Amino acid sequence: MKAGLVYDPIYLEHDTGDHVENSQRLVSIMSHLEETGMKEKLISFSPRLASIEEVEMVHAPEYVSHIKSKAESGGGWLDPDTVMCPRSYEVALYAAGGMLTAVEKVMTGEVDSAFALVRPPGHHATSNRAMGFCIFNNIAIGAKFAIANFNIERILIVDFDVHHGNATQEAFYNDSKVLYFSTHQYPFYPGTGWLDETGTGQGKGYTVNFPMSAGWGDDEYLRAFNEVLVPAARKFQPQLILVSVGFDPHWADSIAMMQVSVSGFAQIVKMLRQLAVELCQGHLALTLEGGYNLEVAASGTRAIFDVLLDNAEVVDPLGKAPVIRKAVGFEEHLKRIKEIHHTENQD
Ligand SMILES: [Zn+2]
Repeated sequence: MKAGLVYDPIYLEHDTGDHVENSQRLVSIMSHLEETGMKEKLISFSPRLASIEEVEMVHAPEYVSHIKSKAESGGGWLDPDTVMCPRSYEVALYAAGGMLTAVEKVMTGEVDSAFALVRPPGHHATSNRAMGFCIFNNIAIGAKFAIANFNIERILIVDFDVHHGNATQEAFYNDSKVLYFSTHQYPFYPGTGWLDETGTGQGKGYTVNFPMSAGWGDDEYLRAFNEVLVPAARKFQPQLILVSVGFDPHWADSIAMMQVSVSGFAQIVKMLRQLAVELCQGHLALTLEGGYNLEVAASGTRAIFDVLLDNAEVVDPLGKAPVIRKAVGFEEHLKRIKEIHHTENQD
């Protein structure tokens, strides 16, 4: 089983100061992959630069030139949460390019799957606005690129970051070529992602939101994936699966209030890998979004690579959430989402 790692130290040059989204996240992940011997089991790729034309498949030209000129004039705040430095424009082009490299390596069969460890993250960056630590929407650019270059018509994007990927949803809201499935804490930043947001026009039914109440954890996530995503994916028959990985639903990540464990992340990715094998020759490309507890991000990334390599054992040094509460209201909630999307488990 060949698993690709897309990374370059250039990602550390997006200097955000003492912001929670800082270069230590990738430093911690990469040193853990080296210390545990994981890195040498992977096929490493350097990311390429995304072209302006590629970025403009998702973003307005005026927005792209705004980011460029903001970098040239020294950087600064793009919105109340999102800051950039003079290097951030080029680094953001490499973050989008990292996803493109992952897609290329998977679609040409060089590797079975690939995980792009990039920053800045992307899923909140809309066509014309930086939001939520994100500058360019890496995964949306990756999906547009795959459709334009590999003669494919159906892509599944799965987003398990604790925040709703508002901008990824928006990019494909009226598009039947991309099925967007998201689990996220709700209500929470950025405020979108209720279960009645299901797409418009041609895209009606191709957005599947599974909002989660604060405190829910592994059991609820796995049921959401198993009982809603799996049948929806089988019906959709994707030719490529892209994943926005966020480690911020972990119980030890203080940015949010979910209770997922590292082994929970591993089980989710295992399910996605099995779907990819069943439906699309294993074509699976992942990219990093959020996750701010350094130990969780490091062990979570290692666990994902263990799954991609088909290793039976996954190491979870932090274990399950210390207190697991009853998930009040989950059954009704699940039933409602199934009714909206007519998903009956076909097993
Ligand atoms: Zn997040």
